[in-house]
Amino acid sequence: MASGSVEPSSAMSDFLEKSNGYAILDGGLATELERHGADLNDPLWSAKCLISSSHLIKRVHLDYLEAGADIIITASYQATIQGFEAKGLSREKSESLLWKSVEIAREARDSYYKEHGECLVNDVGNGSLLNQRPILVAASVGSYGAYLADGSEYDGNYGDLVTLETLKDFHRRRVQVLAESGADLIAFETIPNKLEAQAYAELLEEDDKNIPAWFSFNSKDGVNVVSGDSLLECASIADACKKVIAVGINCTPPRFIQGLILSIKKVTTKPILIYPNSGETYDPERKEWVKSTGISDEDFVSYVTKWREVGASLIGGCCRTTPNTIRAISKALSKGFAAPLQ
Ligand SMILES: [Zn+2]
Repeated sequence: MASGSVEPSSAMSDFLEKSNGYAILDGGLATELERHGADLNDPLWSAKCLISSSHLIKRVHLDYLEAGADIIITASYQATIQGFEAKGLSREKSESLLWKSVEIAREARDSYYKEHGECLVNDVGNGSLLNQRPILVAASVGSYGAYLADGSEYDGNYGDLVTLETLKDFHRRRVQVLAESGADLIAFETIPNKLEAQAYAELLEEDDKNIPAWFSFNSKDGVNVVSGDSLLECASIADACKKVIAVGINCTPPRFIQGLILSIKKVTTKPILIYPNSGETYDPERKEWVKSTGISDEDFVSYVTKWREVGASLIGGCCRTTPNTIRAISKALSKGFAAPLQ
């Protein structure tokens, strides 16, 4: 994937081929950072740790690698240049924190390889992976709503004043910085509406960026994305963009996932990724998760083989999932669900 000569469209398929046809993503970052003692009570959320406690982020990445994750997602979901500048940081410092999010994940990967003697990425410089377990670093980009931190990432309603150009201008520099950061791909996560998907697709085509991406939407009714826009239309935008190598759903209750996979399959043949939340609901006003609405790791995992059967090839967890969830997913998938039903 790091190779410039690989067509973006086949990069994910090649990667999946090397990992038995499926790959495991990591799980929730914020929950784990808090468990390790980080205080995330801040509009910058997990990005705050980039400033104050990067060692904890590395620890969590390592925990997920140990649990079986093949792809780790950086702590940049809520890291935006505008957000850092609002905290009084310079433009330069803000951009360096985006870089740092990728650097921490790459360091975690290096440490993991070192510890497990798997550092076999060839040194010819063409980036092909020779080891049995390739690990990718995905640079997270959260939505405009995640930056606003007002809950609009969960309803996708930005109001009439926000246009395609507004969103492109908002995301442009961050995407440029992350594209050159040494990440293997960009993870556009929790995309709440069609307009933002379109903005990302157009940004990826700008100035010939040499990095692939995945698009991941969220849904709260199991049919449409959270804004009410058609998932089919959103996934079609991802399908039409050459730089997009996988399309899917994250931060959505497990019970909706199977139907959503079937929908996405109608409009794309690209690999499908899913990383649901634990099923607990988030109260945007109180800015906290309502416990008691979630499901256990065992229940979560009972869905996993079904998701794989109906066509998901990248599976992990979002908010409130833990290394235990990922370990359980890894175990369930290794029990021989090599190929989805066609
Ligand atoms: Zn989430």
